[in-house]
Amino acid sequence: MIARNPTRAVHIGSTVLGDGHPIVVQSMCATKTTNVAATVAQVEQLAAAGAGVVRIAVDTPNDCRALAEIRRRTTANLSVDLQENYRLAAQVAPWVDKIRYNPGHLHHHEPERPWSEKVRFLVDVAGQHDCAIRVGVNCGSVDPSQQEKQKYADPTAAMLASALEHCELLDRLGFTRYCVSLKDSDPARVVDVNRRFAAQRPDVPLHLGVTEAGMPPEGIWKTRLALEPLLAAGIGDTLRVSLTVPFDRKREEVEAGQQILDDVAAGRRTTHDAPAERRLNIISCPSCSRVENEAFVELAQQVREATRYAADQPITIAVMGCRVNGPGETDHADLGLWCGVHTVHLKRGSLSLGDFSYQAVLERLTAELDRLIAERSGGR
Ligand code: SF4
Repeated sequence: MIARNPTRAVHIGSTVLGDGHPIVVQSMCATKTTNVAATVAQVEQLAAAGAGVVRIAVDTPNDCRALAEIRRRTTANLSVDLQENYRLAAQVAPWVDKIRYNPGHLHHHEPERPWSEKVRFLVDVAGQHDCAIRVGVNCGSVDPSQQEKQKYADPTAAMLASALEHCELLDRLGFTRYCVSLKDSDPARVVDVNRRFAAQRPDVPLHLGVTEAGMPPEGIWKTRLALEPLLAAGIGDTLRVSLTVPFDRKREEVEAGQQILDDVAAGRRTTHDAPAERRLNIISCPSCSRVENEAFVELAQQVREATRYAADQPITIAVMGCRVNGPGETDHADLGLWCGVHTVHLKRGSLSLGDFSYQAVLERLTAELDRLIAERSGGR
């Protein structure tokens, strides 16, 4: 057993977060949501591995229709992942147990409408359909107004302010059936921002995770660096280990999460160092139904192999599976790739270097990597 903060209970279908209940391990489907058979098979695979909640992404009315059919074929606790089109919540809420929204994304769709009205809409929908809510703050898509307000503060200040602001509004609306996540790809920032949030809102259940942790085993090491100190300090009621693995191996996320919980309970801690401080750091997204080409997973592995020669360089390379979140979430990396259906977009920081075939992009990537290393060592 792990000693825990006294958070309130949040019911999600047949499971409960917080209030001393066992920490729930979650995961997410990577299959196309419209491929009902494949998605149901993945939901069942994850639930059988021990996932207490399984998340599914929806972006279109077709996804919503598919979700209704998925619900009919599984009894697993389902969470829906909304992007910009928050209004889809009304179509999917009857079929799920939790709605996850990202405060940063509420600013894109219907920009003239205040975000607080959009949250009110989500609260009404959740209330009508017996759903919990997750306020999911992510480092790659922080609320732009908070980023502006906090631009002179520390790196996680905007994430923290955004989460607290949404909690305040949900409380004012009388909706308490919510949890919060604050995810970053840097484990140290995950520890920092979650500690600060828990100090201010010890009553709110926290969903822990490192976003874009990447491929195992490095992705598991990074996640351990963040989750172990938090869990040992009583922070966290649910967690996800986000791993870039082939779709049929997604159960490894659940197994890794359970192993972390067992190790923390037994007082065992990872011996691995923090990434990026002294070596090449590859971050990659865990895949979801928005992946445009499954070759993305293989590409991430090829990037790791092709760049091993630069292992001792403090450089970050980001590999993302889609154009929805890929462009924003590669901005902070030294080199970034986001994958389309037929091509891969390559970036250096926020500068676009163009589109390349899946075969050709590796050569250009290593050329850019060599150039970056030469520049940093002063040998232009
Ligand atoms: S980057 Fe795109 S494909 Fe990858 S997890 Fe995020 S939304 Fe899904």
